[in-house]
Amino acid sequence: MIKHMMGGAHRISVPLPNNPLLKIHTYLFKGERDLLIDTGADLDICEQVLAQSLQQMGVDPEKLDICITHLHTDHVGLVRRQMLASANVMCGPFDKEGDMRLFTNTILDREAIEAYMQYLGLFGSLTKLKIQDMPPGFFLDWSMLPDLKPLEEGAILKVGEHTLTCLSTPGHAPEHISLYDAANRILFSGDFLMSPMMPNVLDFKAEGSSLIKYFAALSQVESMSVDLVYAGHGDIITNPSLRIEEIIAHHNKKLVAFEQITKEGKQTVAEIASKAAWGGGSKTWEQLALVPRLFAIGETLSHLNYLVSEQRIAFIEQAGVVYFGK
Ligand SMILES: [Zn+2]
Repeated sequence: MIKHMMGGAHRISVPLPNNPLLKIHTYLFKGERDLLIDTGADLDICEQVLAQSLQQMGVDPEKLDICITHLHTDHVGLVRRQMLASANVMCGPFDKEGDMRLFTNTILDREAIEAYMQYLGLFGSLTKLKIQDMPPGFFLDWSMLPDLKPLEEGAILKVGEHTLTCLSTPGHAPEHISLYDAANRILFSGDFLMSPMMPNVLDFKAEGSSLIKYFAALSQVESMSVDLVYAGHGDIITNPSLRIEEIIAHHNKKLVAFEQITKEGKQTVAEIASKAAWGGGSKTWEQLALVPRLFAIGETLSHLNYLVSEQRIAFIEQAGVVYFGK
């Protein structure tokens, strides 16, 4: 379960049951205080694996710093467990009331859900969304999280002889950060860069565009000296530039496909998402399960917002519903 990586980090892979990602990779650095990057979902099996590995590595939770790459439950979930209660937890600056609402306990607020479903045009299958249909540990309850200390762009974390620099890498989540080990030319990328799976770029409102920010972060990282990327899921990336080019090409192709769909006239986000191909072209909307549908909605909106920013399409809001089209 523990793999000793180039550059001195120890990778602890934590299983994610019922999740196509299979597992999350967390990374431990040993020092006077130890540093753990990401934790695992709020599930007993994740807790057992992480606790056992930390014990094996001689980690004292009283002397543990935790850096969370982004506030999705598979990365942050375990910080609410007793075993990590005394750790010092840091993450990128975030907006509790903003884009995170779909992943938090506010989903339990019926009125808010219904207004939001209406806004996206989700009157059909997704309105059957029930908390019990979601995979266990999917939603975060903010009230159960400890104090999260915000880390700004450029913040330096020192642990043992290692120096890590905090980079803002939004797109998959607005608060997403990556940690850069310049001496060893290694990037700890969370879900910002992954292989072979494509990172989702997500918006949940018709404003701004996470995709613009994501492209900017990709080109910033491409210009840096990075030989290895240690991601939150999947494989080690040994050719970061090539992977970045593949990811950019993937999103450009999606932009063209979404633009094509909007030529049929003004439609809701859900209507547009339901006409797109998913799962790398292997799945239709009807074949997507509940959680992949939520990600598909977020991914659709980030691309539509991008097309609006480039004035390739327009959007209007009418009676609490948002529509996109030519
Ligand atoms: Zn993840």
